[in-house]
Amino acid sequence: MNFYKDHYDVIVIGGALAGLSSALMLAEKGKDVLVLERHNLPGGIASSFVRGGIEIEAALHEMMSIGEKDNRLKVGKFFDDMGVDIEWLKVPEAYHASLPGLEVTLHPGLETFAREVDEAVPGTYRKVLDLLNLCTTVFNSVNELSIHPMSKAKMLLKHEAFVKTAGYTAQEVIDSFDLPKKAQDLLAPYWIYVGSGFNTLPFTIYAVLMADYVGFGSYIPRKFSHEMSLKMAERAEAMGVQIEYRQHVDKILVRDGQAYGVRTARGDEIYADYVISSSYPNKVYTSMIEPASAVPAKAIKMVNGRRLSLTAFSVIMILDDTAEHLGIRDYSVFRGDTMDTDALYEDLAGLGPYRYLTCICHNLGNDTATPPGTCSYSITTLPRVDGWKTVKAEDYDKVKHQVAAQMIDDMSEYLGVKLRDHILEIVIETPMTVNRYTNAWNGCIYGYAHTMEDHIIARLQTAEEESFIKHLEFSGAHAISGDGMGPAVTNGRKAAKNVLDTMAAEEALK
Ligand SMILES: Cc1cc2nc3c(=O)[nH]c(=O)nc-3n(C[C@H](O)[C@H](O)[C@H](O)COP(=O)(O)OP(=O)(O)OC[C@H]3O[C@@H](n4cnc5c(N)ncnc54)[C@H](O)[C@@H]3O)c2cc1C
Repeated sequence: MNFYKDHYDVIVIGGALAGLSSALMLAEKGKDVLVLERHNLPGGIASSFVRGGIEIEAALHEMMSIGEKDNRLKVGKFFDDMGVDIEWLKVPEAYHASLPGLEVTLHPGLETFAREVDEAVPGTYRKVLDLLNLCTTVFNSVNELSIHPMSKAKMLLKHEAFVKTAGYTAQEVIDSFDLPKKAQDLLAPYWIYVGSGFNTLPFTIYAVLMADYVGFGSYIPRKFSHEMSLKMAERAEAMGVQIEYRQHVDKILVRDGQAYGVRTARGDEIYADYVISSSYPNKVYTSMIEPASAVPAKAIKMVNGRRLSLTAFSVIMILDDTAEHLGIRDYSVFRGDTMDTDALYEDLAGLGPYRYLTCICHNLGNDTATPPGTCSYSITTLPRVDGWKTVKAEDYDKVKHQVAAQMIDDMSEYLGVKLRDHILEIVIETPMTVNRYTNAWNGCIYGYAHTMEDHIIARLQTAEEESFIKHLEFSGAHAISGDGMGPAVTNGRKAAKNVLDTMAAEEALK
C-alpha cells in the first residue's frame, strides 16, 4: 500500500487547531485532504502533557467565541456543526483584577460586569454599560462584515458605530466615556489577550474582545485543550482526511507562480491542487518555497513590515493541596503594578521581572482537572520576542529559572502561601519551548500584532494583494484574525473558504 496517494485536492501543513479546522471544512465539502503534522500528536499548542502521572494543560486559560449550548458563538457552532463533541465548562468569572488599589472579581454578563465595576468605583454603572453596549454593537458588525463585505456607503448606513469608531484607538474611545481611572483599569486586564497597548490597539479589536469574553463568558474543555485537537483529528479522519504524523514539511513546491505540492524532511514529494500552511509566512517565504526565486520581493516586504505579536512564558505547577486549603479563590487572576497597557507592553520587551501576570487555577473551572487533594496552578506572562532573542544558549537555563522564580515569588506574596513548599510537579514553558514544539516563528503564539495600520479589517481589504503565490493559503494564529485558539479556528475556516471559492471560480472559467 502506498503511504501517499498520487494526488490530493489539498495538503494542509500542520495538524493543530487552525490546520484541522481547514481540513474539517474541506472534508465536509467532499475534498480529498492530506494533513502533514511534524509532531507525533495533533494540537500544536492545544495540547497537554503528563508529569508524575498527572495530565497537565499545556496552555489554555480560556476559549472565546464558544457560547451556551443553545446560543453558540462562531467557534462553538463550528465544533457542533462538524460533529466535534466537546464537553465545554463555563469559566466561573471574567477575572479577578489585582491592581494598585483594586482587588475586584468581575463576572461575565454586560450588566453584571457593569454593576460589579460600579460597586468598586461608585457612579460608573451607566457609562460602563454604555461602553460595553458599544463594544457589542461593533462586535456584531465585525461578525457580519467578515462574512458579507459591503461598500463604505452601505456600511455607514447599516454599521454606523463600527464605521465611526474604526479609526480610533481603544484608549481614544475609552477616554470619550470620561470614566475615573480606577474604572478604566478594571476594563483593561484582557488587553494581554490581544497583545497591544491601548494607544496602539484599534478600538475594533478591543470591542470584539470585550463583547465576546465579557458578554458571553469564556469556556474550557473538560479534558483540556487537547480534547479539541484530538476530537477534531478523530472526526477529520472519520470524514476521510488522511493525517500523517512525524512528517515535517520542508518545502512548498511552486511552478508558474502556483503551489502544486510539498516535500517532506524524509524526501517524499506529494502533489495537490492547493497547499494550506500553518507555518508562519515569515518561515514560508524565507525558506520553504521551492524554487526560492518564486518568492516575490513584496512577500518579504510584507512579512518584514508586520509586527510580531507576543510569545509566552508560563510556570505550570501541580500543588500538593486543594485550592480551598491553599486559599486560592479565583479561576483567573490578572495582577499588575500598573494598568498602563502601553507601559506594560514596553516591559514585555525585556527579560523580567515582569510587571503583569495572568494566573489560572484550573480546578476552579474544572473539578476533575487534577487528582483529589491536589490542584493545578499556572502563572503566565506573554513577553515580546525582542528580549528572548538576545538570550545566549549558555545563559538560557539561568534566565529561565530567574524569571520563573520571580513569578512564583510574586504570586506567593499575593496568595499569602509559599507556593514553593507545595510543588509536586513544575514545568516551565518559554518562548523557546513554544518554538521547539510548534515551529512557531520566534515562538510567537498570536501571529502578528494588531495595530492601527494592521488589523483584521485592514487585512481583509489587503488579503487579495497579499496572496503572492496562487493556490497557497495560510491558516494559523498568523492569519487574518490573529490571537489565540478561537481565532486560529476562524483562520483555519477562512483558509478553507478561500480554497473552495478559488476552486469554484476556476471551475466556472473552464
Ligand atoms: C502558555 C500559553 C497560553 C495560552 N493561552 C491561551 C488562551 O487562554 N486562550 C487562547 O485562545 N489562546 C491561548 N494561547 C495561544 C494559542 O495557544 C495559539 O494562538 C493557538 O493555539 C495557535 O494555533 P495554531 O493552530 O495557529 O498553531 P500551533 O498550535 O502553533 O500549531 C502549528 C502546528 O503546525 C505544525 N507545523 C508547523 N510547521 C510545520 C511543518 N513545517 N511541517 C509539519 N507541521 C508543521 C506544528 O507542529 C503544530 O502542530 C496560549 C498559548 C500559550 C503558549
